[in-house]
Amino acid sequence: MTRKVIITCAVTGAIHTPSMSPHLPITAEQIADAAIGAAEAGAAIVHLHARDPVDGRPDQSPEAFAPFLRVIKQRSDCVVNITTGGAPTMTIEQRVKPAASFAPEVASLNMGSMNFGLFGMLNRFKDFQHDWEQPYLANKDILFRNTFGDIEYILRTCSENNTRFEFECYDTSHLYNLKYFLDQGLVRAPLFIQTVFGLQGGIGAHPEDVLHMKRTADRLFGDQYRWSVLGAGRNQLPIAAMAAAMGGNVRVGMEDSLWAGPGRLARSNAEQVRAARQIIEGLGLSVATPDEAREMLSLKGGDRVNF
Ligand SMILES: [Zn+2]
Repeated sequence: MTRKVIITCAVTGAIHTPSMSPHLPITAEQIADAAIGAAEAGAAIVHLHARDPVDGRPDQSPEAFAPFLRVIKQRSDCVVNITTGGAPTMTIEQRVKPAASFAPEVASLNMGSMNFGLFGMLNRFKDFQHDWEQPYLANKDILFRNTFGDIEYILRTCSENNTRFEFECYDTSHLYNLKYFLDQGLVRAPLFIQTVFGLQGGIGAHPEDVLHMKRTADRLFGDQYRWSVLGAGRNQLPIAAMAAAMGGNVRVGMEDSLWAGPGRLARSNAEQVRAARQIIEGLGLSVATPDEAREMLSLKGGDRVNF
């Protein structure tokens, strides 16, 4: 039997802004359509943020999530993963609210504090439709706060709902932080570890960086984890290919990259999922269905959520 690879699609996020691409999902209807399209193309998991429908700014209120969560559940059996990262400008209490309210099968969890530099994108994008975009991107003082206390707060809040986690690790130290929580008994195997490459403030996107994160995770967690990768921007597919060949799972989507090729904007999230799928199948592997992903990650099931 061929190995199954989980594709996660992060459809909108909080990093890119509306003026960067007309295809970035903003409204609840666009986010629902993007998630369902990604699932139909082969994503087993959709990772979701919400935005203000008028100006596209990140919105972490449960009311912003409710409309698209309902539609996605009606029209797809994909695993729903709700962000607890939100945007670096939000408090930890705001960030956990949607996951705490809707009790999804999976929530993301950022495993360490870090600098967060979006200003590099100002070299490519100059004209903005909304007044919040330029200052949001230009800020060189963003500290993405994820202290041990913050992480423990999210773990305790969401674990009561049997929500499991996509542990987002942007650097080697984040793996050690996760190891601490494993040793404390606050998280349990199988851990779903999303190693993140190429974001300004985190580890780079060189193949050596990918190998280093994998080697470290192998040493710390052995067979107690499932590995997934996310490469930012143009690194998306090269890193997906590398990880798929080495036994990993992959994340794509417009949260992480707006592109479908050099200088070519992706027209949909599904387009990126199809590109990842082509790589996976080209390697002689196959794409995991939502139920296969549930089995691989020990999830509670799509009928045990509060939406
Ligand atoms: Zn996210």
